[in-house]
Amino acid sequence: MGIHTQGEKISSLIDGLGFFVSRSGKLHKVSSIKEYGNYVKFITDCGQYIAVRNSRRSKAARWIRNGWMKSSCKRCKIKSGELSRFKICR
Ligand SMILES: [Zn+2]
Repeated sequence: MGIHTQGEKISSLIDGLGFFVSRSGKLHKVSSIKEYGNYVKFITDCGQYIAVRNSRRSKAARWIRNGWMKSSCKRCKIKSGELSRFKICR
């Protein structure tokens, strides 16, 4: 279990972790998530509505699975204990 599980769709990764890494590498906390066909839509704690293809191969899925991020969203108020499972990647 956890972030190193292979072959999971991005919806189950986000659902299990409660986090999403945006295209720019920014880590957001996810407050709600819903699947729509091939897409997954979710709302971040900072109030953004995001829709991505529900793929297991996308860049975002890979980043989340590997626990990578470039920065964390200040407005999502992510606790340092929650951040410790992610590593800064440049
Ligand atoms: Zn955010």
